[in-house]
Amino acid sequence: MTTGAAAFDGHAIAPETAAFLGQTHRLLINGAWVDGSGEMETLDPATGLVLTRFHTGGAAEVDRAVKAARAAFDGPWGRMTVAERTAQLHKLARVMDAHATLLTELDVIDNGMPRFIAGLTVANCVEMVDYYAGAVMRIEGTTTAPPRHITAETEALTYTLREPVGVAGQIVPWNVPLSTAILKLAPALAAGCTVVVKPSEETPLSALALGQIVLDAGLPAGVVNIINGVGAQAGQALAEHPGVDKISFTGSTATGRRIVQAALGNLKKVSLELGGKSPVVVMPDADLALAIPGVAMATFFLQGQNCMAGTRIFAHAAIHDELMEGLAAFAGGMTLGHGLDFATTQGPLVSAGHTDKVMGYIERAKAEGLTLVAGGERLERAGNFVKPTIFTGCDNTMPLMREEIFGPVMAVQKIETDDLDAIAALANDTPYGLSGSVWTRDLSTAHRIVKRIRAGHVSINCHGAVGTNVPFGGYGQSGWGREFGQEGLDAYLETKAVTARL
Ligand code: NDP
Repeated sequence: MTTGAAAFDGHAIAPETAAFLGQTHRLLINGAWVDGSGEMETLDPATGLVLTRFHTGGAAEVDRAVKAARAAFDGPWGRMTVAERTAQLHKLARVMDAHATLLTELDVIDNGMPRFIAGLTVANCVEMVDYYAGAVMRIEGTTTAPPRHITAETEALTYTLREPVGVAGQIVPWNVPLSTAILKLAPALAAGCTVVVKPSEETPLSALALGQIVLDAGLPAGVVNIINGVGAQAGQALAEHPGVDKISFTGSTATGRRIVQAALGNLKKVSLELGGKSPVVVMPDADLALAIPGVAMATFFLQGQNCMAGTRIFAHAAIHDELMEGLAAFAGGMTLGHGLDFATTQGPLVSAGHTDKVMGYIERAKAEGLTLVAGGERLERAGNFVKPTIFTGCDNTMPLMREEIFGPVMAVQKIETDDLDAIAALANDTPYGLSGSVWTRDLSTAHRIVKRIRAGHVSINCHGAVGTNVPFGGYGQSGWGREFGQEGLDAYLETKAVTARL
């Protein structure tokens, strides 16, 4: 596909993207696009311009989608051989790849992320569908010794089968819209489940494009259903629905608690990928040429709207000032702009409301007298732009160090100690436990700190280095379960034990 033949607000976009934006999008239920009971519009966060309108659903549409998913589970999808299921998923990956520019541009203009990041996430999504396609044939049980009371009487055989959980409800956030949808959908389909996906009302577009791709790839009707709608209505109805066997949610810890309550009715299985406030420890011997851009992007990647963002920096006094100088220069050198501009390294925040929330934290930190090292204000132009912001002089009791801001705001605490237990105690002084990183040239120190940090993913001399095959999830209030890799697939499988008297 060539770009440049169409434009959005002065930026070149692919003709396919322009055509997509020209339509009103509906709900995908049972293999067909159908009307919803409501309609909303989605905005470009860089300009405030209306992108397009989309239909929304509530409890009635969720119910129809769940019934369609059940029929597909009991019917064509459930009856497919593993070879057929593998082939269907590889086909899905190829059709996604063919529409990579569309998927990239939709996440850029709906979410605000820079083009190079959206392009990378789309490539990762294609890789992930292929990865889970390849995993279908490796879904294996085990054999084990039969129970004693059976073998006392006769010969016997005991083995396990791995079977799909059933119908999965998948509630997706707005910060990496396509990626967070695919990392739920791909393992679920590979396991043999069928799905009802509820995208965020802030960023519905790439999931809608994915819906058409699913149809074009020839997946049977009802295997993938997509219901846009307000979280408290469509999302809540999905989490409560007695016909849903498993709910997988990514989003805030507060909404995660509501999901757990909603799931109680039929005790459906629950996976949660929630918030974070990840620590970044910079030791006196850190390679600052590596650490300065690495620590900066630990916070500023995706405008800070990143569950694993490293936003609590523990900088050793020996390198604190040099680190601050480097981070300030890095932040000041970032190019803020529309994500469609190839030069942009930081886009807008997702919405005006979210920008107000982020600015509230910044204003409060200024009022409390924290030292502002960079940013601290909006960019003077239309759209939801906040300059990359760094405060130092923080301590671990402050809201800036404790609460998930989900914006480009870094909080730095200077530490004087070399005691690894004391440093780990600071890093672990949080209800969250999603991610973290340590920056040092001494690998012994690095591994000793890694061992002490209570988080699902800890990096050395890099941050948030997650990947398709690397399990990802949280300790503490950062969630339940793991996504990505084999554990991501296991989350959609039941184990059935079988004993046969011979
Ligand atoms: P939410 O957790 O409220 O939203 C995430 C998803 O859940 C969206 O699809 C949302 O739908 C849906 N949802 C909302 N309420 C319910 C409900 N009662 N039942 C079922 N689904 C529901 O996050 P917000 O968008 O409100 O963002 C608030 C904060 O959450 C952010 O500032 C950030 O701190 C955190 N967050 C963390 C993310 C992460 O990856 N860990 C991702 C996104 C946010 P809809 O948007 O349509 O209302």
